[in-house]
Amino acid sequence: MNGLSESEGVWVFSEVYDLTLEMLSKGRELADKLQTELVAVLVGNNVRQRANELIDYGADKVYVIDSPGLEHFQAEAYLGVLHNLAADYHPAILLIGSTRDGRPLAARLATRLNTGCVPDCFELSVDEGKRLVGERIAYGGSAVATVAFKSKPQIATVPARAFEKPALHDRRGQVVKLDVRIEAPKVEVVERRPLETSSVKVEEAEYLVCCGRGLEKKDDMKLLQELAEVLGGQVGCSRPLVEDRKWFSEWIGLSGHKVKPKLYVACGISGVIQHVAGIRDSKVIVAINRDPEAPIFEIADYGVVGNLYEVLPALKEALQKQLQ
Ligand SMILES: Cc1cc2nc3c(=O)[nH]c(=O)nc-3n(C[C@H](O)[C@H](O)[C@H](O)COP(=O)(O)OP(=O)(O)OC[C@H]3O[C@@H](n4cnc5c(N)ncnc54)[C@H](O)[C@@H]3O)c2cc1C
Repeated sequence: MNGLSESEGVWVFSEVYDLTLEMLSKGRELADKLQTELVAVLVGNNVRQRANELIDYGADKVYVIDSPGLEHFQAEAYLGVLHNLAADYHPAILLIGSTRDGRPLAARLATRLNTGCVPDCFELSVDEGKRLVGERIAYGGSAVATVAFKSKPQIATVPARAFEKPALHDRRGQVVKLDVRIEAPKVEVVERRPLETSSVKVEEAEYLVCCGRGLEKKDDMKLLQELAEVLGGQVGCSRPLVEDRKWFSEWIGLSGHKVKPKLYVACGISGVIQHVAGIRDSKVIVAINRDPEAPIFEIADYGVVGNLYEVLPALKEALQKQLQ
């Protein structure tokens, strides 16, 4: 669907429920400004019971596509569903959760609909011409790109925690159950294994020891754990250790957890803006990095230029001696 006039409605979709809720708060603002309806697209198996809650969180309408074939996220099936829906109902704006699965889904959907897609928008608004305007971080955090759309639907992906979850109100809305043709997947999922998740909340930690890409092996995390134990704190990591290396399930930063411990020890973390945005409120920041030019030293209260594999055991030993 191209052209900026015939389409209507702001839609939100994510396979992650909490992210759908966060997008509903921004979606509500955009829909009110455009005087159009806010639609949540709910896809999965046995998901229809959540439809009314989505209305209470701000949606005017919920399209429910409920089928055993949609139990788990599957790229072709979900793409087919969204494509059919968008082709039939012509949304003006489509916000898709910027998850590992959501980002490629949005790009593939935009290609099918012959429209544009702006990934990772941390701010969204509409201009005087009623076009969606997205802001995203560019050049590794040193610039913000502001992008306006020229075609519809205007597809943007939204990272987790870019917007606050809206408040729950008792609202009225429309729940529409749809039977959409589900495309047969071209790949088979052979095995699913849960990721290791931490039971401790990093947001609540008073002492945090965190690692970045400077850590060579997942097992080396024990070096950080040992220091955290001496401090009575917890461990965490930067986003690439979750997204790229798949070692952990949660990260700290702009799109991850925002933390404010008494002490934050950054080990092998470069300190680009997206990470720093999540640790700014720490009382004391200690950085260990072998590159003296690493940006983390600009915000650190104390910096150690050195190899984390040497510094961490030495620091632990010194602390243990002090505490004896
Ligand atoms: C929209 C968006 C949101 C993002 N959100 C986040 C976020 O919330 N959190 C986040 O962390 N990132 C986020 N990122 C990613 C971010 O841009 C950076 O890519 C990431 O923070 C870099 O992680 P890092 O510092 O671990 O790795 P790198 O930048 O690769 O840095 C590794 C550092 O380790 C040092 N090092 C290497 N070996 C050693 C050693 N042996 N001893 C000591 N130092 C060593 C190096 O000198 C280097 O400075 C986001 C990106 C985008 C586009």
